[in-house]
Amino acid sequence: MVSRVIPVDPFDLIIFGGTGDLAQRKILPALYRRFCAGQWHEDARIIAAARAGHSAEDFRRMVAESLHRHAAVRASESQRVSRFLQRVDYVPLDAVSAEGWGLLGEKLSPNRVRAFYFSVGPNLFGPLAERVRAYDLATEDTRIVVEKPFGHDLGSARELNATLAAHFDESQIYRIDHYLGKETVQNLMAVRFGNMLFEPLWNSQYVDHIQITVAETVGIDGREEYYERAGAMRDMVQNHLMQLLCLIAMEPPAKFDPDAVRDEKLKVIRALDPVEPHHIVRGQFSAGPEGVGYRECVGNPRSTTESYVALKAHVSNWRWAGTPFYLRTGKRLVARSSVINVMFKDAPHSIFGEEAGRHANALSIRLQPNEGITLKVTIKEPGPGGMRLIDVPLDMSFAEALGPENQDPPDAYERLVMDVIRGNQTLFMRGDEVEAAWAWTDPIIAGWLARGDVPKPYDSGSTGPGDAELLMKRDGRRWQGIKP
Ligand code: NAP
Repeated sequence: MVSRVIPVDPFDLIIFGGTGDLAQRKILPALYRRFCAGQWHEDARIIAAARAGHSAEDFRRMVAESLHRHAAVRASESQRVSRFLQRVDYVPLDAVSAEGWGLLGEKLSPNRVRAFYFSVGPNLFGPLAERVRAYDLATEDTRIVVEKPFGHDLGSARELNATLAAHFDESQIYRIDHYLGKETVQNLMAVRFGNMLFEPLWNSQYVDHIQITVAETVGIDGREEYYERAGAMRDMVQNHLMQLLCLIAMEPPAKFDPDAVRDEKLKVIRALDPVEPHHIVRGQFSAGPEGVGYRECVGNPRSTTESYVALKAHVSNWRWAGTPFYLRTGKRLVARSSVINVMFKDAPHSIFGEEAGRHANALSIRLQPNEGITLKVTIKEPGPGGMRLIDVPLDMSFAEALGPENQDPPDAYERLVMDVIRGNQTLFMRGDEVEAAWAWTDPIIAGWLARGDVPKPYDSGSTGPGDAELLMKRDGRRWQGIKP
C-alpha cells in the first residue's frame, strides 16, 4: 500500500535560524524527503537566513552534510541531492537590525505561497514578525510558523500572541507542536471517528480510566539551560501530553476542518479541573549506567526542576465525569515508549463465578515505537480444566498490516511543513488553545513554588519514582508496563 503524494503549490520557504540545530536536523531533511517524494513544485525554493556570513555555496555544503547525517542519504542519491540544493539559498540577516532584509526582499518571488519559519529562540519571534511587515515582505498568501516553546506561562504566551496578532491574522499563524504531525497521533482521530466500534463505548459509563504515557530513555543533553528553566511540566505536559489528552477526550467535530477540530480540543482543556497537589508526583533522575544525575547535568546541586511528572486529571463534562486520566512523562526511563491505554470497566456481572477471576478489556494505542493497536480481550483458557478465563491480545502492528513500504512513517516535520504550504491549520495549535493549556498548568507550577516542593529522586533506567505507583495504587489501579 503506497501512500498518495499530493503536490503542493509553488512556495518560497524562508527559514530564519536556517543554520541552527532544528533547521539542520529536522526541517531541511524533512523538506528533502518531500522533495524526493515529488511533492514540491519545481519552482519551489528555500531561503535560509541567520546572522553568520556564509555564502550560499557554503550553506549548501552545510545542508549536504546535514542530509547525510540526518536523512540517511545514500551515495547513489548524489544527483537528487544536488537538484535539491539548487533550490536552496542563504541570506545573512539579523532579526533585530536592518541587516539583510533588503536582500531577502529581492530574493522573494511574487505570486506564490510565502512561509516564514521562525526557527529561532522565542525572544526573536516579535522582532521577526515586525520586520517581515515593516519590510513589506508579507503578501496575501503569507504564513508564519513558530516553534515551541510558545511562552513560559500564561502571561508570556498572551504577550506573544498579542505581538504576533499585531502583524498577522490568526489564520496566518502556525504554532508547531510536532507531536501533532506524528502519523500515529493523527491516527487517534482516524481510530476514534472512522470506526463504529469504539465511539459508543468511549465514555465514563464504559471506560474505567485512561493512561497516557510518554517515556523517554534520553536525558537532557544539549538542552540543559532550557530544560532547567522548563522542566517536564512545561516541556512535555503543557503541550504534547495535553494534545494527546485532547484527541482522546474530545467530542467528534462536525468535520475534519481546522477550527472544528480546534474548537473541540479547546473545550476539553477548559473542562479540565484544577489538579489537587496530592494527585501529582514530580521526579528527578539520579545517576545510573546511562550517565550522571539530573543535578550534575545542569550543574546545579540544588535544582528542583522535575524531569518526571505523573498526575491524575479530570475532564468535567458529561462524557468523562468520573473517569480519571492519568498522565506521566519522564526522561531516562526504562524504555522509549509513547502509549495510550484506554482501560475499560469490568463486565457488570460474571456468569462464570468468582473463581473465573476479574477481567476487563483494554485498548492500547502505541504511538512510538512499533505503532499499532492492541485490544485485550477475555477468552476461555484452552483445555479441559473447566471454564477458566484468560486475557489475550488482539494485536495489530501498523507496519505489519500496511506493508514494508510503510515501516518508516514520515517524520512529523514532513507532514507539518507541507500543511503550512497547503494552508491547513488542523494540526497546529490555535492561540486560545495554547493560552488555555497554560491557564491549567500555571497554578500547578505556582503550587510547587509556594510549597517549596522538591522532586522525588528516581533511578535512571527505572519506571520513575515509587510515588507514581502509589498514585495509582491508592485508586486500586496500576500503571501498564513501560515496554519498548
Ligand atoms: P539553535 O541551534 O540555537 O539555532 C538558532 C538559530 O537562530 C541559528 O541559526 C542562529 O544563527 C539564528 N539566530 C540567532 N540569533 C539570530 C538573530 N538575531 N538574527 C537571525 N538569526 C539568528 O536553536 P535550535 O535548536 O535550532 O532551536 C530553534 C527554535 O526551535 C527554538 O525556539 C527552539 O526552542 C525550538 N525547538 C528546537 C528543537 C530542537 O530539537 N532543536 C525542538 C523543538 C523546538 P546565527 O547565530 O548565525 O544568527
